[in-house]
Amino acid sequence: MSYMRIIERIKEMEDISRKVKNKGKKVGLVPTMGALHEGHFRLIDVAKKHTDFVVVSIFVNPLQFGVSEDLRAYPRDVHNDAKLLKKKGIDILFAPLGNEMYPEGYDAYVELPMLSSVLCGARRPGHFKGVCTVVCKLFNIVIPDIAVFGEKDAQQLIIIKKMVKDLNLGIKILTAPTTRESDGVAISSRNIYLSSQERRDAPVIYQSLILAKKLIEKGERDTKKIKEKMRVIISSKLTARVDYMDIVKKKDLKQISFLESEVLIAVAVWFGKTRLIDNITLQIPEI
Ligand code: AMP
Repeated sequence: MSYMRIIERIKEMEDISRKVKNKGKKVGLVPTMGALHEGHFRLIDVAKKHTDFVVVSIFVNPLQFGVSEDLRAYPRDVHNDAKLLKKKGIDILFAPLGNEMYPEGYDAYVELPMLSSVLCGARRPGHFKGVCTVVCKLFNIVIPDIAVFGEKDAQQLIIIKKMVKDLNLGIKILTAPTTRESDGVAISSRNIYLSSQERRDAPVIYQSLILAKKLIEKGERDTKKIKEKMRVIISSKLTARVDYMDIVKKKDLKQISFLESEVLIAVAVWFGKTRLIDNITLQIPEI
């Protein structure tokens, strides 16, 4: 087991990163909101594989939660997270303090309005502004060579890659596929909110995505028809309520009616007060 430091102060984190980089080491960052699970660990594995010094940040970012969302209830257990991270053999757990990240009078934001106006962004106004702002701050503090994000949050990943490109941040973004439970449910810190009935119904999200994939493999190209069939299977579960279901071009997240090239099928479903998201990417073969 290697030695892991827990850093709370921004200045200290900046100093360490600079020192490490001056020694010629490559720094990797895995930003998280904690309540760590297998999905996060797969991102850490990617960071460890590609860098010499791995920083995992834990910060429940108030800026990315809407007023009626679960900021207060969001699961927090930094103590347990620290234990798990120590076993993973990372170098730094960076858990910045809220009042250092956003001191009184804080007034700088990063926004990608076009990519943020659809899918989750349309349902959660301000969410991606909060995500981009905190990720940009974390990048400036940790100065990573690479940062790792999960495909589970497909829109977030696309927005962050675009932010890095448009703002010339010079950080390589690596990804890890969505980690799932054996019944297909994408692992999420929010799954603990589900009642036992809701948890039994939750695999329907991934089942709807697999159904879409099969329809496409059989030659279906009409997105309306695919979405109708997905909706039928999700609605068969009493505890499930579709928030949105979209098939978009992966490149720019624009809606399409006829499938071609690389597409993202993204779904958000409410189970009671819990909103779960999932997605798949498909390369559409020419027919
Ligand atoms: P969060 O702590 O939920 O904000 O997530 C932190 C990072 O972990 C993000 O890049 C997520 O996309 C990624 N992540 C969360 N759950 C999963 C999962 N089941 N599989 C892969 N990546 C995940």
